[in-house]
Amino acid sequence: MRFTFTCAAATLIAISAGARAPHAQAPKRLALVGGMLLTGYEVPPVHHAAILIEGNRIVQAGPASEVKIPADATIVDTSGRTLLPGLIEAHGHLIALGHGNYETWFPWIAAHGGDAMLMRVMETSARQLLFAGVTTTVDLGAPLQPILTIRNRINKGEVVGTRVLASGPWISRGAGGAMQAGFGGVNITTPQEASAQTEKLAAAGVDHIKAHAGLTFDDYKAIVEAAHRHNLRVHAHVYAEQDVRHALEAGVDVLQHVGSAGTAPPYSLEMIRDIVNAGRPVVVTAAHRAWVYPDTAAFPERLQDPEMKRLFPPEIFAEIQRSLENWPALGYFQRTDREMLYRERGVKQFIESGAVMGMGTDSGTPMNFHSEALWREIKVHVDMGMSPQRAIAAATRVNAQIIGKGRDLGTIEPGKLADVIVVKGNPLFDIVALSDVEIVVKDGVVLKGGPAADPRARPSPGAGK
Ligand SMILES: [Zn+2]
Ligand SMILES: [Zn+2]
Repeated sequence: MRFTFTCAAATLIAISAGARAPHAQAPKRLALVGGMLLTGYEVPPVHHAAILIEGNRIVQAGPASEVKIPADATIVDTSGRTLLPGLIEAHGHLIALGHGNYETWFPWIAAHGGDAMLMRVMETSARQLLFAGVTTTVDLGAPLQPILTIRNRINKGEVVGTRVLASGPWISRGAGGAMQAGFGGVNITTPQEASAQTEKLAAAGVDHIKAHAGLTFDDYKAIVEAAHRHNLRVHAHVYAEQDVRHALEAGVDVLQHVGSAGTAPPYSLEMIRDIVNAGRPVVVTAAHRAWVYPDTAAFPERLQDPEMKRLFPPEIFAEIQRSLENWPALGYFQRTDREMLYRERGVKQFIESGAVMGMGTDSGTPMNFHSEALWREIKVHVDMGMSPQRAIAAATRVNAQIIGKGRDLGTIEPGKLADVIVVKGNPLFDIVALSDVEIVVKDGVVLKGGPAADPRARPSPGAGK
C-alpha cells in the first residue's frame, strides 16, 4: 500500500503565503530528515521520511525524496529513528508530582513558599511532561489562577514545558478533604449553581470544564449547556455506572476514568453499548493504581530512577521520596486489590467494543510520574489488546479530536502545529520505545535533543535553583 502526501503541495503553498504575508521577516525553517514517520493516522508508516517546518507549522511531510528542503533550513538528522506527533496527555495534574499523600503534599507546598513553590512544582511537571514527549497536556484539576498563570507563561515562552489546557477547579457536590482543597474543587448544591460556576470559569478563560462524580443528571446538564455556550468541552470524572449514565445522557463530551480498570466492576453491556453507539470518547486512566502498584511492588527501584531524579529540583525529590517510604500503606492504594481483580476486564470492555478511546493517565497522582505515565498507560492498552498503531493514534490524533483541537494538533501533516517527537527504535514493534524520547519539537522549536535545541531547554531543571 502506498501512502504519500500528494495533496499536500497545494496546502503548502497556501500556508507559506499566509504565514509570510503580514510581516517581512521570513519564518525560521527546520527540517527533520530521515527515519520512519508515523503520522497519527492508522495507515502504514512512511519510511525514510522528512518533515519541513516553517515557523510553528508543518509545511511538508512525506518520503524524504519528495520533501523539498530550502537551503536556509536548519537540518536535524533523524535517520534510524521514528518520528511521530507530539503526544497528548488527556488527563494530567501539574500541581502533583507523584507524591504519595495529598494530606501532607499540599501543606508541604504551603510551608515551603506557598504560591512560589506551587509555581515551581508546576514548572517541574510541565518540563517533565515535555521531555517525555508530551507536547500538550489536558490539566483536569488545579486552583484557578495558578494553573492559568503557568499555562500563559508557557505559551509566552517564559517556561519550557508542555502546552497546557486547563480546567481550573473541578465542579463537585459535597466533596471535602485534602484532595478537594488542594486541587481547588468547588462544591455546588443546585444545577443553577453548577451553571453559574461554569460561567465563572468560562469568563476566567479556562479551556474546558471538569465535572466530578456525584453530581445529579440535572447538574451535568446545566454544566454542559453553560460550557457549550462558550464552546468549551466538558470532561466528567466518573466511575460508578449511575454517574457514567448521567454524564453520558447529559451530553458530557469526554468520559474520564470510567471504571479506571477496576475501581468499579465492568459496566453492563447496555452501558457499554450506549457509550459506543453515542460515539462518546472514553479516557480510561487504567494504569495509575491497578498497574502502577503491582509494577512498583515488582520493581520498587523505579522510584529512585536516576533519570527521573534528574528531572526534579532536589528538595522536591527528597519530599516525594519521604512520602513514598512506606508506599504500600498509602491510603491511595487501599483498594488496589479489587482494582487488580477487575483491571483487565475494565480496559478490554472498551477496546473490544470499539469505543472511541483517548489516552490519559491522571499523571501526577501517587507514584504516577509525569516523566513516564503516558508510555506506561499506552503499554497497558497494548498489553490489553489494542494495536500499537491504534494506541499511538489514541494518544495523538484521537486525543486532539476529543479535546476539540483536531485542526491544529494530533497528526503530522501540512498546516498542523509543529509538535513532533523522535524516539529510538520502532514503537510498532515494541511500544516501550515511546519511553526513549530523544528529540522534542513543540511549536516548531526544538526543546529537547540535538545541537539545534533551544538554549532555554538546557541545563536540566534539577541542576539549578
Ligand atoms: Zn479525575
Ligand atoms: Zn485526575
